[in-house]
Amino acid sequence: MSDDLDGVAGYMQQAKQDALKNVEHVAEGVAADTLPEGKLFEVAQSIGDKRLEDLNVADTTCGYCAVGCRFDLYSDGEEVLAARPTAEEDAPVNGISTCVKGKFGYDFVNSEDRLTTPLVRDESGEFRTASWDEALTRAAEGLNGIRDDHGGEALSVIASSKATNEENYLMGKFARQVLGTNSVDNCNRLCHSSTVAGLARTFGYGAASVSTDDLEQTDCYLLTGSNTTEAHPVLATRIKQNVRDGADLLVFDPREIQIAEWATQYSRIQPGYDAVWINGITRHIIENDRYDEGFVEARTSGFEDVRESVQEFTPERVEEVTGVPPEEIESAAETIAGADTCVFGWTLGLTEHSHGTENVIAMANLAAITGNLGKPGTGVSPFRGQNNVQGGGGDMGPLPDNFPGYQDIADDEIRAKFEAAWDCDISPEYGHYTTQMFLAADRGDLEGMYIIGENAVLSEPGVNHAERILEGLDFLVVQDLFVTETAEYADVVLPACSFVEKTGTFTNTDRTVQMVKQVMEPKGDSRPDWEILQDLATRMGRDWNYASAAEIMEEVNSLTPIYGGMTHERIDAEGGLQWPCWDEDHPGTTRLYTAAFNTDDGLSHLEGIGFSEPAESPDAEFPLTLTTGRVLYQYHTGTMTHREAGIMQYTPSDFVEIHPETAAEQGIESGDMVRISSRRGEITVPAQVTDRVGPETVFAPIHFAESAVNRLTDEEHLDPDAATPEYKVSAVRVEPAATDAEPPTTEPTTGDDD
Ligand code: SF4
Repeated sequence: MSDDLDGVAGYMQQAKQDALKNVEHVAEGVAADTLPEGKLFEVAQSIGDKRLEDLNVADTTCGYCAVGCRFDLYSDGEEVLAARPTAEEDAPVNGISTCVKGKFGYDFVNSEDRLTTPLVRDESGEFRTASWDEALTRAAEGLNGIRDDHGGEALSVIASSKATNEENYLMGKFARQVLGTNSVDNCNRLCHSSTVAGLARTFGYGAASVSTDDLEQTDCYLLTGSNTTEAHPVLATRIKQNVRDGADLLVFDPREIQIAEWATQYSRIQPGYDAVWINGITRHIIENDRYDEGFVEARTSGFEDVRESVQEFTPERVEEVTGVPPEEIESAAETIAGADTCVFGWTLGLTEHSHGTENVIAMANLAAITGNLGKPGTGVSPFRGQNNVQGGGGDMGPLPDNFPGYQDIADDEIRAKFEAAWDCDISPEYGHYTTQMFLAADRGDLEGMYIIGENAVLSEPGVNHAERILEGLDFLVVQDLFVTETAEYADVVLPACSFVEKTGTFTNTDRTVQMVKQVMEPKGDSRPDWEILQDLATRMGRDWNYASAAEIMEEVNSLTPIYGGMTHERIDAEGGLQWPCWDEDHPGTTRLYTAAFNTDDGLSHLEGIGFSEPAESPDAEFPLTLTTGRVLYQYHTGTMTHREAGIMQYTPSDFVEIHPETAAEQGIESGDMVRISSRRGEITVPAQVTDRVGPETVFAPIHFAESAVNRLTDEEHLDPDAATPEYKVSAVRVEPAATDAEPPTTEPTTGDDD
């Protein structure tokens, strides 16, 4: 932080220098996303004549996506005034760059509708403000009542991937020790749990094997189901830099997304059949002896099973099912086989399916047979979504089947360790996954929920179903920053604070655990999640006495081998540590599987994957396939980004992308309001006519309650291993809307214009 940054002029000058450095430093075109001039000026004005050296500053980690960018946040104690990337050596993932959300997305902290006091529902059914004492007493009585009448298994907790690792550790402990239920889960169930299941089965750890360094030095990428420039903008920059310098980029996606413009090869695929084209590539490589025989023999089992299972995926069959011509399968296979190193990257286009785990295993097979694991520039890289879904959503064990560190609750020895540490009995029976909680409540098996930092009513599949379930619960506690659409159903709402108002750690997509540091006091009476949990646990008969997040992490260290050496002191001093980090002397693990896989015999366990179909296919009534996703300028259900006026200028509403031929058949033009209907419900959104999608596919984002796309998705058909819903395939009909609804005055942008 230099002293010459005081006031508007200094900030503008420095920010422009950063922008110039960005142009040199990153691939062409990214600076426009990184530093919009108008917004930059607004930020500079908000600093006004304050001297930056007089502001609070904290070097912290982004609270939006799991890329895990590091930057300095400045606050005058009332609001966040500026974010500036830290020195490159202190920001291992992002260097001097951030995306628009990390740079400007902080108006939500001081939003007028921020929840600053607890709420309880009164006899008339309306919310009224309450003291912490009254609200916590009501919450404790409600949860205790269900536990006493129906047993702990009638309760569930939905934990928060936005919260810190320490807080998520306590959410899992609270469920098991205080409520007596294993039904604790989180949003990982909705996105990458099929990645976790698939990679844990084949390689041993349900996580990326790579570091960001591997992404920067590989010779080849196979990217699928990943709109990288919008969902993981700074990682996309790293990839584009490397492609500019000569790496090959293969993109398989139903949409010709922006990163496809950088691709050596883009192949459009029919949503729902990923294992088919992946197996087609694997088949070509095996049939033509282009696989890595030495690696297969020394480090894998199950190769013959894979060889046999891919036989049916001939080039002709792959084309018939997925639309990818034989020459594109062959060229992709030859590019991968011919590259010295390759990284296999994916996001939710691969996982959010009723057979997502199979898709992931097919990809893992391909990585293994080509020997692309455990060496620099190689590996599997599932790009995680929410800021802390890797750590808080997985590693910390707010999961129905695992304790922290992926320790199986059905293992007697492990369960005994946690029973002794937490002084409670724990059932060896797995609890309900998030998606199954809503089905269990429908059957009458679940009576109450405690939902923390998750707008479940919009993010779960089948919004109409989720609304009915929450309406019917006996008791619901919601803990959040706002009265979200989910909180509207609560009996008690507890005001939490954001990542800028507390301290802890987040774990990013490449397993790096990084510090989150408080830069301003919590707004009003809001409190960090861990403090609220502690008070509630104490009221429910447990003696929790943590003085700080660092103290909670010490308990994590003692019970979680992969986090064994990760104290706050060390993480802060070393600028981040990657797990596994077994003890205080262990340096952390930049790359997994260099010598052995995390399996009983140290081998990668390959599995043949056959043909599976989506749960629902287009038909005469619903002739199109809907696939859903994110846009650059928004974040999930919008609880944070909708409060940022600058961001809302870019994407003021959801929309639907529809191919020109399909639109012409219905007389639809860009900007027209259209109705999308599925077997579950309907929504109305403006149309964007574009050949980014194929004629049989439409795409809609997930960000606005008034057009909640999950009214169209299916809550019943889940991945059998991971219980992930099939967000990426719904049969729909699109037609002009007979509505008075006005289209937005600003056309929404996908962020593809950089
Ligand atoms: Fe934050 Fe992700 Fe943007 Fe980085 S890329 S600034 S982590 S939202």
